[in-house]
Amino acid sequence: MMQRMKITFLLLVLTAPSAFSQKLKKADKLTLENLETHIRYLADDQLEGRRTGSPGEKMAGEYISAELRKAGLQPRGENGGWLQSFEVNDGKKISDDTHFFINNQELLPGRDYFPFPFSAIGTVTGSPAIALHEKDTPWFVDLKDLLEAGQGNPHFDLEGAVQGRVKDCVKKGATAIIFYNSSKTPDNLGFDPKDPAAALEVPVLYVTKEAKRKYLKDESASQDIKIRVGISEMKRTGHNVLGYLDNGASTTVVIGAHYDHLGHGEDSNSLYRGTDRPVFNGADDNASGTAGMIELARLLKQSKLKGNNYLFIAFSGEELGLFGSHYFVEHPTVPLASVNYMINLDMIGRLNDTSHALTLGGYGTSPAWGEVSGKINGKKYFAFRYDSSGMGPSDHTSFYSKDIPVLFFFTGIHADYHKPTDDYDKINYSGELQVVKYIYALVESLNNRGRIAFTKTRDTQFSQARFSVTLGILPDYSFSGGGVRIDAISEGRPAQKAGLQAGDIIIGLGDFTVSSLDNYMDALSAFKKGDTAKLKYIRASKTAETAVQF
Ligand SMILES: [Zn+2]
Repeated sequence: MMQRMKITFLLLVLTAPSAFSQKLKKADKLTLENLETHIRYLADDQLEGRRTGSPGEKMAGEYISAELRKAGLQPRGENGGWLQSFEVNDGKKISDDTHFFINNQELLPGRDYFPFPFSAIGTVTGSPAIALHEKDTPWFVDLKDLLEAGQGNPHFDLEGAVQGRVKDCVKKGATAIIFYNSSKTPDNLGFDPKDPAAALEVPVLYVTKEAKRKYLKDESASQDIKIRVGISEMKRTGHNVLGYLDNGASTTVVIGAHYDHLGHGEDSNSLYRGTDRPVFNGADDNASGTAGMIELARLLKQSKLKGNNYLFIAFSGEELGLFGSHYFVEHPTVPLASVNYMINLDMIGRLNDTSHALTLGGYGTSPAWGEVSGKINGKKYFAFRYDSSGMGPSDHTSFYSKDIPVLFFFTGIHADYHKPTDDYDKINYSGELQVVKYIYALVESLNNRGRIAFTKTRDTQFSQARFSVTLGILPDYSFSGGGVRIDAISEGRPAQKAGLQAGDIIIGLGDFTVSSLDNYMDALSAFKKGDTAKLKYIRASKTAETAVQF
């Protein structure tokens, strides 16, 4: 499951757990053994946490496709194969052709200087003196004043101030800006690959104290400057694995589970705070769901349930922001209009043996869920928790956004979530077997029903408890850049009144820098009704500002 925020589910417990004890049938015993085999393999150290685009992801993908083939499915990826590949934006990178010469001495990038991520790409030469700001030359600018202005303000946005200063200098004729810090106040500036800011008009560099001392001793002498800045976008390739069970039906049911996880925590989406680089095996998240999906493929292939075709998809890129499922719904390998409903298995391996709590997300996306889920609950084994929203921190969100009914199965958050301790020995295998059997029974109950109806659900799953105001936006949960991208805007709410549009990326609110949904919500919690705040956003690669009234 994608890490994003504290999730508050609307809890509505309808059925009480009851004692469950029965001897496993032979068929169930096989499923149980298979679940354990799949999870043990997928969560093995040798797969190194199944990070999107890594050799471990490839090994996991090969295992999954081999299992789906064994189950009797047909490949349904690209070009007749099992895989569907997609690109993941991995942030910005300083290109190798970047250089900075002062008086024909080359400075070392990373040690002596760095270009800001919002620097223009290009080449500039000139012979400025540090103390002089002349038209059509590069300028040296001291950060001292800016740092002093921000002192005592915990929400001071130095980067925003730097960008403002660049714009002023460009208006006055600077062809490049070289920042340095002569004050004792640390600026903590660096090259942040995930910086969302759009490129400014001129190259913008930062030169370190040591380098300035070494190369720029004389403030009044003119310096022979040669700058070249190159910044490129880094990409990784992820792979969905797709297997198809063709029953000659007019509708297809998608059963999905993401199989990627956090690798060694390289993408800073873990909750581990150690300094070493352990493997995140992701046994519950989401070897458990992947194993469940493989077993459902096997069971449905052997079944007499021919009312739908079944497409099984193991998604990658989920932990980075639903990349694989987002790519699939934009590039479907079965007509999306034929998809009846989508079932998502994400973290189904930690059923609590006392509470038997099982969360059903997307419960409000079709009236069918309410009608059937109770009926097949003959054993009253689970204590269901219902979350009606079709939006959530996992891949069903991508399908819901295409008006497809979704149902998301989840046995709950735990202390090992997104930590190296989420391992195979903590999985409740017999609990997972019950979840898989329940999903099978649900699919069975819908076999002769034809197409089920889709209903839109409430647009936000934000907890209202944390803040007293909202902007009236629906964030794009699949957006992986910095900031909060607006997916949709509510009529008559503050965001719409301030002129914001779908597609805008919020990067600042009041004095807060907004780089993620989490700190967006932190920022919101600082305001109350009636407050006004400036709001910084990016539209069509340009940074702009507006004022919102809550
Ligand atoms: Zn996760």
